[in-house]
Amino acid sequence: MAGRVVKRAFKYRFYPTAVQAEQLAQTFGCTRYVYNRALAERSRAWSQEQRRVTYADTSKMLTGWKRDTETEWLAEPSKGPLQESLRQLQGAFEKFWRKQTRYPQFKRKGRSKDSATYYSNCFTYRGGQIRLAKQSEPLDIRWSRPLPEGAVPSQVTVSRNARGQYHISILVEDTISELESVSRVVGLDAGITSLYTLSTGEKITNPRHERADRARLAKAQRMLAKKQKGSRNRAKARLKVAKIHGRIADRRRDYLHKLSTRLVRENQVIAIEDLSVRNMVKNRSLSRAISDAGWSEFRSMLEYKADWYGRRVVAIDRFCPSSKTCSVCGEVAGAMPLNVREWTCRCGAVHDRDVNAARNILAVGLTVAACGDGVRPPRT
Ligand SMILES: [Zn+2]
Repeated sequence: MAGRVVKRAFKYRFYPTAVQAEQLAQTFGCTRYVYNRALAERSRAWSQEQRRVTYADTSKMLTGWKRDTETEWLAEPSKGPLQESLRQLQGAFEKFWRKQTRYPQFKRKGRSKDSATYYSNCFTYRGGQIRLAKQSEPLDIRWSRPLPEGAVPSQVTVSRNARGQYHISILVEDTISELESVSRVVGLDAGITSLYTLSTGEKITNPRHERADRARLAKAQRMLAKKQKGSRNRAKARLKVAKIHGRIADRRRDYLHKLSTRLVRENQVIAIEDLSVRNMVKNRSLSRAISDAGWSEFRSMLEYKADWYGRRVVAIDRFCPSSKTCSVCGEVAGAMPLNVREWTCRCGAVHDRDVNAARNILAVGLTVAACGDGVRPPRT
């Protein structure tokens, strides 16, 4: 089967020299400054003059700031990351306009993740080594897995997290072979009691370590709250909280990667609910479950992997009454509060709430897959 070319990111830890660390700190400071100042300009133009400042406008402003004697230090770092910072701000506004996120926020030193993105004209990749613009030494990268044979990096992002660790994410083009098609299909219900429930009846629970990690996090947060503001001990306690947060996120991402790969390998069609996280978070009992499960991250993993391997993810309307429709006879039951985990239909079918929902999601998903997006179940 012919392979197709996709963009993939490979992330590694690296250890900067003292000189590189200083240079990166300066670059991070500049990208943050540019982001914040452009955000301030855009907000001001809008609130005072109802004028929309575009990405191109901010790009011109940046040129001016570099010439301004007060901010001429902006001309020191590589120009690529500063441009990218403006592009990220543009992206943040676009998400806001589509009502996907709240209004863009200022980046704060020590609170926002430090990062800088370099395009191919601002770094070199030679002999298995990466050298950033304006740096004489290559980066000391721990290649935990090799880049694909013959890969040409098109973009790299270096970042420093709250734990003081440096990472580099390298974007390369990779050739992926589609998988042989399979006849299995699956519906997936995003969980309240389980992380996810499959239409096959399988329940996917939170990884075992999650509970212990949560307990550790809660303890570290209590310790942090007791420390005096501005003290060294408080800084230490904050670092500890950040470390635990980081580890929880790393392990969860790893878990979701394995799960999404498995589901995509096993099934030709994966039907999911088009959950709007923003709406669900309003419901407090659900908010923990939804944010913990990292639903939107998981969904995007499923979608891009399905795309790579020639599978299909169908997201169905979230207004579909999947929990209270009998997956055997189609009858819609009355109100079904969240604490009802099992119910019996008038046709005699006994349902596990989540498995039944996953089956209905699958049925609707298959109809949509076969007939196109125009087909939707009636809303109730
Ligand atoms: Zn029934």
